Amino acid sequence: MILVGLTGGIGSGKTTVLGCFRGLGAETSDADEEVHRLYEPGTDVYRAVLARWGTGILRADGSVNRAAVAEIVFRGGTELEWLSELVHPPIRQAILERAAVPMLRLFVCALPLLYETHWDRMTCRNVAVWCDPQTQARRLRRRGWDEEQVRSRASRQMTMDEKLQRADFGIINTGSMELLRQQCRRVYEELCRQYGAGGASGHPDAGSRPEHEQGN
Ligand code: ATP
Repeated sequence: MILVGLTGGIGSGKTTVLGCFRGLGAETSDADEEVHRLYEPGTDVYRAVLARWGTGILRADGSVNRAAVAEIVFRGGTELEWLSELVHPPIRQAILERAAVPMLRLFVCALPLLYETHWDRMTCRNVAVWCDPQTQARRLRRRGWDEEQVRSRASRQMTMDEKLQRADFGIINTGSMELLRQQCRRVYEELCRQYGAGGASGHPDAGSRPEHEQGN
């Protein structure tokens, strides 16, 4: 499969863009959703986070409260690194297993930490979603986050500008949904054209980034 990484800042619109790509015919996966699956009661990850942080991270029904986990890991210190080391290997395995299925379709994977965790070494092409800080803050305020929460989470990531600079395609999500959909369609069509995906004819290099572009 043709693995495409989708990244961007917090609240920039990754999930929305992923939905657009799905609507256009891409296979999709969201690393945050994969984490959610790993937190299911009874899993190794569930047991490990419970052993480390105690029952305070659980909801009344026994499921992991992701907001409580975020509160801990974004407070500072090394908890985020610890959690990353715990969840990255199984996420990587789950995504690569899906990507290994031979299919002439784009497989777009939302990876908030695409560059920070070097996923870009495994993707054919990368797309970054960008919005201005005011739009980002407005969207996240609607989610109930205050400025300090936005700042502390953003400070643990590469800036949106850097992600945009490194990506093969940028999607500027500061306007309407219609404008966003138009950009997604253009990027999707260009990716399909480059990799011969979504159509009847297959590109011989489908699934791999051209050799001269590898390793960035
Ligand atoms: P996170 O980093 O928290 O996973 P995200 O990057 O996936 O966030 P989304 O959840 O897609 O971002 O978008 C954040 C919010 O902004 C959502 O409520 C979404 O509906 C809204 N949104 C995204 N793009 C637009 C747009 N172009 N117009 C209006 N609302 C938008």
